Order: sequence, then structure tokens, then C-alpha cells
Amino acid sequence: MTANPPAAEPRRVPCPTCKRPAVFAPSNPSRPFCSERCRGVDLGAWANESYRVAAPPGREDDDTLPDGA
Ligand SMILES: [Zn+2]
Repeated sequence: MTANPPAAEPRRVPCPTCKRPAVFAPSNPSRPFCSERCRGVDLGAWANESYRVAAPPGREDDDTLPDGA
């Protein structure tokens, strides 16, 4: 029986964006994402949704629209 001591392997977590194993360690500044790209994608999606939700239903108040000359 060969004992396999936990080497200094970095912990890995599934990237929230692409579900791929991302290195969860200081060496990965984009953690828990696998890359800066996935990080930006997730942030973008989040912001987009946030904007949608935050959109105030002030349509009645905005009834006086100017005629688009
Ligand atoms: Zn990813």
C-alpha cells in the first residue's frame, strides 16, 4: 500500500464561468475563476443582470417623451 501524502498541490475549484478546474491559490489572481477572461465574463453577466433588475419601472413618469425631430 503506497501512501500518497498530499503534496503541495494547489487546491482546485470549478470555474463559475466555464466549470473547468481553476487553481484556487495566490498564484491565480483570477480565482475562483480559471482565468482573467472568465472572471470578466462573469462580472459582465452579473452587471448586466443587475442593471436589468435595477431598471426602475418609472415608465408612467416618463410619458412626456419629446418628439424625435
Ligand atoms: Zn473559466
